[in-house]
Amino acid sequence: MYLKLCVSVRSILRMSIGRLGDFIVKSTHKCDRCGLHYPESNEHCSHCFNLKSQNELDIYKQEIIVAAASRKKLGWSFAVIMFFISFFLYLSF
Ligand SMILES: [Zn+2]
Repeated sequence: MYLKLCVSVRSILRMSIGRLGDFIVKSTHKCDRCGLHYPESNEHCSHCFNLKSQNELDIYKQEIIVAAASRKKLGWSFAVIMFFISFFLYLSF
């Protein structure tokens, strides 16, 4: 899904700005070990290549999950703040 989106965005950019689109949107592979995307030009995943044992990989996957949950929580915080700001702006007019 993500790869198809990147390919379609790259093809749109190629139509609009030529070969420069290849430098703006880079093709990626999804890593089988950690599930993150890495550039197609790299031979190995830059996220988990240095993790040799399964225990280290499991810890790294857990960190990825915690970071994703933190980003989601931050996004909801901004949404709530945006709601209150827009509500008070609505009341002020
Ligand atoms: Zn990886």
